[in-house]
Amino acid sequence: MLSQQGHEVTLFERAGEIRPVGAGLLLQPSGQLVLERLGRLDEIVTDAEPIERLVARTRSERVVLDLPYAAAGSGLHALGVHRSTLHAALVRFAAAAGVAVEPGCDVTEIAGDSLVFADRERRGPFDLIVVANGSASALRPELVRFRHDYAYGALWTIGRTTSVAGRLEQAVHGSRELIGLLPLGAGRCNFFASVRLAELDAIRAAGFDRWRARVVDLLPDAAEVIEHVRGFDDLSVTSYRHVQLRRPFTGRVVLIGDAAHAMSPHLGQGVNLALIDAWELAAALAAAPTVAQALPAYAERRRAQLRYYALVTFALSPFFQSRGAAFGLLRDVALPTLTRIPPLRRHMAATAAGLVAGFVPRRIQLSVISSTSS
Ligand SMILES: Cc1cc2nc3c(=O)[nH]c(=O)nc-3n(C[C@H](O)[C@H](O)[C@H](O)COP(=O)(O)OP(=O)(O)OC[C@H]3O[C@@H](n4cnc5c(N)ncnc54)[C@H](O)[C@@H]3O)c2cc1C
Repeated sequence: MLSQQGHEVTLFERAGEIRPVGAGLLLQPSGQLVLERLGRLDEIVTDAEPIERLVARTRSERVVLDLPYAAAGSGLHALGVHRSTLHAALVRFAAAAGVAVEPGCDVTEIAGDSLVFADRERRGPFDLIVVANGSASALRPELVRFRHDYAYGALWTIGRTTSVAGRLEQAVHGSRELIGLLPLGAGRCNFFASVRLAELDAIRAAGFDRWRARVVDLLPDAAEVIEHVRGFDDLSVTSYRHVQLRRPFTGRVVLIGDAAHAMSPHLGQGVNLALIDAWELAAALAAAPTVAQALPAYAERRRAQLRYYALVTFALSPFFQSRGAAFGLLRDVALPTLTRIPPLRRHMAATAAGLVAGFVPRRIQLSVISSTSS
């Protein structure tokens, strides 16, 4: 977007080769809107699965959550997207806009208006440095107000499904066990299973067959998706953290995406918030006469929404991943009750859709607000 505004943009990427890493993701209506405005949504829709509802059941088939996106506005839905699909669309967009991409550049330090790389090479000065290097970013130490590394992470893989379509299907048992299936279109499906990272070695030692039997017992549809998995080596492990900054900028440096606001993936908002950050940063830079004026304006544009989603995600996480027995019990009682109350149901659906507290275009804003107030 900055390149399209006429700026000279260089993207420094640590990986030696620019390629997608990671599992599938939920592209929410909010993220879809950004991509639509960039003219990139169509190429993603054709390779994705429309996700109409979020579902969670207990082992005894008790429905804990059944939340349709349409409760926030008719026609709304998420997309189950393979990361490579989104990645390819963004790489094509950057190339078409004339962004210079330099892979194999590990930025280790920001020195004033310049960057220092792992090989001690220095580049700059730059008019603006946009730090977008993810949740483990070490380029923001003085800005970090709060950091929490979650004890839980996830084991994941991508397989095939013929039984789960149009919904995120999750199975829960207390707050210690969570298994999910997210269809990604064309029969592909993202499998994930909650794991307490400190217990990973013990789980491995107990054997793959035992773990697999438990997974299938909790969520029988998972059997087909993990059919190709022969052992723990065929699964990837991911961990996550919550990071809150004092402010997302300092001098000529601004942070966006997970580098600015890492959170657990329970609400499925990270990619969407990152896309909105990018959109709003470009808009703030276009509107302000100087970088110094644009960065506080950007922070202000993002403040309410990021505060809301960080808070809700942080508060929600122990109900899906923790050792406290009360969390699971409370969730199983409260969630079905809350989702039956129409204004709350709409608000929960709007939250899942990424449409609360910012970046809501008039069309959707009207349908959310009118349905909320009716
Ligand atoms: C299990 C799991 C499931 C998730 N599911 C969803 C979902 O359904 N929906 C959703 O919206 N979000 C989801 N998320 C969150 C989402 O993955 C992140 O919010 C999103 O990837 C953040 O994008 P980003 O560009 O800020 O950072 P990243 O995607 O982490 O990208 C950072 C980039 O910076 C590069 N880099 C890192 N350090 C350096 C350095 N020093 N120098 C140069 N380059 C560097 C990395 O190689 C990488 O390319 C999930 C996350 C997890 C872990």
